[in-house]
Amino acid sequence: MDNPKFEVMRHDVTFPLYVEVDEIYNLACPASPVHYQHDPVQTTKTSVHGAINMLDLARRTNARIFQSSTSEVYGDPEVHPQTEDYRGSVNPIGPRACYDEGKRCAETLFFDYHRQYGTDIRVVRIFNTYGPNMHPNDGRVVSNFIIQALKDEDITIYGDGLQTRSFCYVDDLIDGFIRFMETDDVTGPMNLGNPGEFTIKELAEKVIQLTGSKSKLVYNDLPTDDPMQRCPDISLAKSVLNWEPKVQLDDGLKVTIQYFQDLGC
Ligand code: UDP
Repeated sequence: MDNPKFEVMRHDVTFPLYVEVDEIYNLACPASPVHYQHDPVQTTKTSVHGAINMLDLARRTNARIFQSSTSEVYGDPEVHPQTEDYRGSVNPIGPRACYDEGKRCAETLFFDYHRQYGTDIRVVRIFNTYGPNMHPNDGRVVSNFIIQALKDEDITIYGDGLQTRSFCYVDDLIDGFIRFMETDDVTGPMNLGNPGEFTIKELAEKVIQLTGSKSKLVYNDLPTDDPMQRCPDISLAKSVLNWEPKVQLDDGLKVTIQYFQDLGC
């Protein structure tokens, strides 16, 4: 904020934006299921109208444009780990569809602008990411479990806890973004995530152990269309960007726990 060349603008990407830029990172869209399902029509608009508006801005300014797509384009995957050429298994009418199909349509738009207008695109499929600066009410699993553990409250496992996720520490992810934007002649889509795969129950047990919490595990209903397994194949990112995550889950969790403790959670 102290840098005189830095300017912050508050703008809704579902409306056109007229500014001068060299590069665009389009990260607009809530990513927590609780938040994106709160106003699903607006979620689809954010991804689809937002993509059109940001791509038009890239076209006008000749800017390179980055799209934060998601592992959710794979839906509840039948291929494991997920490679970029897997086309996914998404329920188009379920409660997650506003996010999954919105992001899939955004990918379509990015590749059509690239083919039709030569727009310089970089499309990343982000897998579960966590770290300091998450909102305490984010609603996703890592922040929920840490806050519950710090308060010695019940840890809410949805389903039997045997579903898996792969958790990437935020600094590793950002490093991948920047490397990708600095690389010429690759469009993606490219998976970025940590291939270390854990069940949700394992995550809960780790959080309890790292916080020294007295919390107990409780089992609630599994949300509709909750994917059973998720793990990125990152061979493409390794070979093209020479990138792989460096932060192990235990180390990233320790920093994130400290962050929430400092917030007074
Ligand atoms: N989950 C859970 N308890 C919570 C929040 C999430 O068991 O308090 C589960 C959720 O059902 C899913 C996984 O943890 O299987 C990851 O959920 P999250 O909302 O973090 O992201 P997703 O990968 O589903 O988009």
